This record gives sequence, C-alpha cells and structure tokens, in this order.
Amino acid sequence: MTSHNQQLFDESQKFIPGGVNSPVRAFRSVGGTPLFFQRGQGAHVWDADGKRYTDYVGSWGPMIVGHCHPEVVKAVQDAAAQGLGFGAPTASELEMAELLCKLLPSLEMVRLVSSGTEATMSAIRLARGFTGRSRIIKFEGCYHGHSDGLLVKAGSGALTFGQPSSSGVPAEIAALTTVLDYNDAAGLERAFAEMGKEIAAVIVEPVAGNMNLVAPKPEFLRALRKMCTEHGAVLIIDEVMTGFRVSLQGAHGHYGIKPDLVTLGKVMGGGLPAAAFGGRRDIMQYLAPLGPVYQAGTLSGNPVAVAAGIATLKLVQAKGFYENLAKLAGQLTEGLSASARQHGIPFCAQSIGGMFGLYFSKALPTSYAEVMGCDKDAFNRFFHAMLESGVYLAPSAFEAGFVSAAHTESDIAATVEKADKIFKSWK
Ligand SMILES: *Cc1c(COP(=O)(O)O)cnc(C)c1O
Repeated sequence: MTSHNQQLFDESQKFIPGGVNSPVRAFRSVGGTPLFFQRGQGAHVWDADGKRYTDYVGSWGPMIVGHCHPEVVKAVQDAAAQGLGFGAPTASELEMAELLCKLLPSLEMVRLVSSGTEATMSAIRLARGFTGRSRIIKFEGCYHGHSDGLLVKAGSGALTFGQPSSSGVPAEIAALTTVLDYNDAAGLERAFAEMGKEIAAVIVEPVAGNMNLVAPKPEFLRALRKMCTEHGAVLIIDEVMTGFRVSLQGAHGHYGIKPDLVTLGKVMGGGLPAAAFGGRRDIMQYLAPLGPVYQAGTLSGNPVAVAAGIATLKLVQAKGFYENLAKLAGQLTEGLSASARQHGIPFCAQSIGGMFGLYFSKALPTSYAEVMGCDKDAFNRFFHAMLESGVYLAPSAFEAGFVSAAHTESDIAATVEKADKIFKSWK
C-alpha cells in the first residue's frame, strides 16, 4: 500500500511546482518522499500516516518552546478572536517593539515585517539609503532569504562582482554584491582596502546555520565591526535564525559584537509569519514615513502573528531557559559523537545554544569549502535510517538542527540510542 505521504506528494506535484512551497522541503538533497505533517505536540510531530517522530527541525527554528505550547496557542486564539488584522496600528505591535528593544539593547528602533527575506531585503535598502552607496558584501554559504541581491555566488574572475546563484536574478544586480569567504578576516580586510568607499553594508550570519552549522572565529567577528566602522559601512547582523535561538541576547550578544542593524524572524514569530529589522536610531529614522527609504507591508505587525511571537518571547525569558536548551543540544551532539567514535566513523558534531551541526567529517568545518568536503552520501544514509527509526532531522546535510525546550533528556537519550544502533552496523 502506498503511504499517505506518497499519495499527497503525488497529488501536490500536479498543483504546486515540485509539490512544495519551499524547495528544501522536497527532500531532493536526501532523496525519497517528503513527509506531510498532520500535527505536532511538544518535541514530536506526526506524519500523514500517523507515524510519530522526534522533531529536530522545529519548523526550521521557530518552535523553540515545542509544538502547540498551551500559552502560545491561547495567545493566538485570543488575538484571533479580536480580529485577524486591521492594516492599522495595534497596541500589540508596540508591545512587541518594546520587548525586542529591551531584550536586544542594540535595537533602538525596530520595524516589523512578515518574513526573514523581507527583513534582510529592507535592511539592505535602508543601509544603501543611509550611506548613499550601492555595493554590499555577503559570505559564501550564508543565506539571507531569496531577494535578488542575496542570491549571489562569488564571481570567477574579479574578486568584486558576484554572479547570480539563481536563474531570474539579473547579472547587473548580482554584480553589486561581493561574495567573500566566511571566517576569512584577511579577505574582508582586502576587500575593504580595495573598495571601502563603495560598500553600503556587510550582511552576515553571526553563526552560519544555512551551510550546516559553522561557528564564527572571534577575529572574523572583530574584523567585521572594525572594517564597517572604519569605512562607514553598515554592519547588518542577520539573526533571523540565531536570534533568541543561540541566546536571549542573540548571537551578537553572545559573542559581544555590536551591529548597526539586526534582522530577526523565525523564533520571534513563534511559528507564525513575523519578522523584524532594527538597530541604530539614526539609521532607522531614514525609513518612510520619517525618511526617504520606502518600505511597507499590508500584513506587517499582524496581530495574530505578533501574539504568537510575544507569547514565545515571554516563555524564553524563564530563568535557565537557554542553559537548559544548550544542555540538551550538547547532550545530543556529545552522545552522537561518542557513539560514532566508538564505532570508528568519521563523524563530529557541535552545538551553540539551541542549534547544532552534524558532520560526516573528521574535523569541524570552519568554511563553506570545508562543509562541502563532508560526506554527503553518509549523511543521507544516516538521515534515512534515523527517519525510519522515528527521528526527524533536517532533510539536507547543509542545514543546522534545532532542539526545543519541550525535548527531554530521555528524548535525547532515545535519539542517541537509535543513532548508536545505526552506527553499530555502519559500513
Ligand atoms: C531563514 C532565514 C532567512 C529567511 O527567512 P524567511 O522567513 O524564510 O524569508 C534569512 N536569514 C537567515 C539567516 C535565515 O536563516
């Protein structure tokens, strides 16, 4: 009998390109049929066949308090009962804005949007408006959403001009983006020496979580701040994934690096579409209606999404929340590493706050090239074996994983035990 997942996927492909509304969901990287989810509760999700999985994707990060936390569900229900949206200001937007500025002192002002893509796209326009410059710098392997200027890879010849990484992105737009190597402070310094006066902004993931997980080198973070300050460029720290995930202060607070602008999403929406960008007051005041940089959104600050976000952000402020999260993630990565070591498998893992990376390689990667050097086939085999045994990992070797506060130590121990069985018969 074909599974309900398979039937739904077959039908979906008739109406939705590739059967999915975001490409990584299609399982192309790992092969096989994507799961269609029915429901989630705490640390677990159920697919269309009713099979239960321990969830280490968490909707790609937002479900930091677990699925269907009663306080989040109640906040959403209460907000919905008051009206789904007005396209006009509400008190809950003020509450969210104040909360974000209180939790992240680098935010003096903030604007709410609906997706991480919107947040980064808007922050870049703002940085360009503020500086009167056009060029931006990004880093290979970092993902900042799917706007034209950010779907760019390093150009082959000249250091300066990026090339589109997606069809449909004009070469002229990609050429305004310079793509450098993550964690390469010297490369960043060279780029600024060459064209510092042209650079409006540098955008970076403070912990790279879209090429598996790559930890930042302290000297790289220091160079980012130093170069932007010396050359009058805006430092945009993209915390869409890491914000309220690595720590309550975001990754920039965790590492003590001061941004000019910060972008947020994922956790701050608690599972609903809410995102934001904010930072220095003098920069934020360039935004319409105060200033000349246009930015808008019919659904921006939607009261139901904001309610889910506020409820989630209240829960993550509980004493010891992030210590517990980091402990759970550490228990997972240490357990998996120990098992692989015992069975002689070239595998390693690390966690930072509530996010983790798994690598089929001997050493932790520090760059995009090193991530690409990991054994993708081994990951895919591991992924499917884990899925079979009821553990849902991100369906790609190039994505970070997430734990939630709803995971228990015994959930993690059970996951490690399943991995151990797989590693034991690994050839
Ligand atoms: C997910 C992500 C985005 C894009 O957010 P969407 O809500 O998917 O548009 C941007 N930057 C980073 C670092 C992300 O992880």
